Amino acid sequence: MTDLLTAALTAAARGWHVFPLAPDAKYPALHREELCPRTGPCTAGHAGWERRATTHPDVIRRAWSHGPYNTGLACGPSGLVVVDLDTPKHPGDLPPPKWAERGVTDGHDVFAALCEEHDPYGQYDTFTVRTGRGGTHLYFTAPPGLVLRNTCGEKGQGLGWKVDTRALGGYVVAAGSTVAGRPYNLALDVPPMPLPVWLAALLTPKAPPVAPLDSAAVRARIGRLQAYTRAAVRGETEKVAGAGEGVRNHTLFASAAALGRLVAAGTLPEHDATDALLDAGQKAGLGEAECRRTIAKGLARGAGRAA
Ligand SMILES: [Zn+2]
Repeated sequence: MTDLLTAALTAAARGWHVFPLAPDAKYPALHREELCPRTGPCTAGHAGWERRATTHPDVIRRAWSHGPYNTGLACGPSGLVVVDLDTPKHPGDLPPPKWAERGVTDGHDVFAALCEEHDPYGQYDTFTVRTGRGGTHLYFTAPPGLVLRNTCGEKGQGLGWKVDTRALGGYVVAAGSTVAGRPYNLALDVPPMPLPVWLAALLTPKAPPVAPLDSAAVRARIGRLQAYTRAAVRGETEKVAGAGEGVRNHTLFASAAALGRLVAAGTLPEHDATDALLDAGQKAGLGEAECRRTIAKGLARGAGRAA
């Protein structure tokens, strides 16, 4: 049995999903979608490396019997998040100023700085692979129920310069492979630890920002209400929008109370009342949070219930 097959089987025995990479390279040794024969694993449509990655020893033996393949490890199906610490590619590949100031020279330094900042007493003794070019792959188990994708450097949810992460949609070259003649070696053979909470938090995509209230959209919704209700909303919001400093908060409360009666009667949807009053309150110069509090109290008063 070749060392390369052993590497693939060893990774699979850990429960990690593997697929063949081209010999001595890091790109998949599977046909591209344009060249898909629609047979075998692709009978029901082209299956890429992430879907074809497997832990099945027989499938692996068969695949690796065709050539001296490297092992690609599909992080998503394997339940792994791999932090990839890289080194500069050439002498001009220098850290951005904010990292240079902190004495950072590569991805290892960036990660050390992040650990120091977020978890100074953390221990990161986890499954570790040294890459062919002197980089490091730290393997962590993915938090259950959290969908993390790849990150690259500082972009998006990225952790920092020369620090990539591989998760769903990503793969790493496994230990025992060689790329351009340089071996990937197991550096620390312990089970991967759970992804630290602070890392999971940094890597979790932020919810999109709440869109600012669009006056045109509010007007369009109000326009669809019954004539009486519409007139009431228009009258109250005009009062609020025109209220001067010193009385505007009270005016907003009174108008919310007036519209609250219509909300309670079922003729005005509460969110329409809130949005129209919020729009008017902000035109009067009140802050959003303050408006929302006052509107909620006013609507409750109008509806005859406690806020
Ligand atoms: Zn295919």
